[in-house]
Amino acid sequence: MSGFPADQTGAAIRVSPNFGPRVGVAAPDMIILHYTGMDSGAGAENWLCDPRSEVSSHYLVHEDGRIVQMVREADRAWHAGRSSWKGVTDVNSRSVGIEIVNPGHFLGYPAFPDAQIEAVIALCAGIRGRHGIPADRILGHSDVAPGRKIDPGEKFPWDRLAAAGLAARRPEPGSEGGPWIGPGAAGQTVEDLQAMLALHGYGVDITGRFDPLTRVVVEAFQRRFRPRRIDGIADAATRSILRQLVSNARSDAA
Ligand SMILES: [Zn+2]
Repeated sequence: MSGFPADQTGAAIRVSPNFGPRVGVAAPDMIILHYTGMDSGAGAENWLCDPRSEVSSHYLVHEDGRIVQMVREADRAWHAGRSSWKGVTDVNSRSVGIEIVNPGHFLGYPAFPDAQIEAVIALCAGIRGRHGIPADRILGHSDVAPGRKIDPGEKFPWDRLAAAGLAARRPEPGSEGGPWIGPGAAGQTVEDLQAMLALHGYGVDITGRFDPLTRVVVEAFQRRFRPRRIDGIADAATRSILRQLVSNARSDAA
């Protein structure tokens, strides 16, 4: 039984009651990737379709690559929660949400199987094609809710998405030396860092002080672009990667 025709070829349909109309926009211009953080895919599927959970996503991708669609792409699913990207705080209205089955950091955090990643790539390519979503607006939940969410996490193979034109490419850190900036720092260098993080898209305040929010945003950035070092300290390499991304985005826009 299906409740609506699938937007994505090959997706099974299992309707979630947890959705509403998009507010202020007719179509999505972002994709947000999550992991389920539960011990089984079946349990996650049930939860996302349970009216008591009040959560949902458009798609769920099982470990074996099976795709289940639960909310129509035209509708607003409830996956991002309190979040922010480039000044947009109703991320649910602007995005397609994809839950990727993985038990997550607190339940062992296994690697994402190949079949699952291939399915995620095909799904993102389809969504991107249907709505013209730019590659740099395919993001992790941790990007739009830093400090609150860490999924899909540093084991998610963003490089494979980037190779398929479905995520921002990760720049090399470069050979730039220089001091690190961390908690307690203040002044122009901190302001510059915060301005670059905000330009990239993060919901960070430009205070000139390396406050707790700055630290969790740096951590979110590292989880995505420098997974070997996720400590919330903006060392020279972290800042170099950030600077390159901001300047690449500027030249793309020019
Ligand atoms: Zn999430």
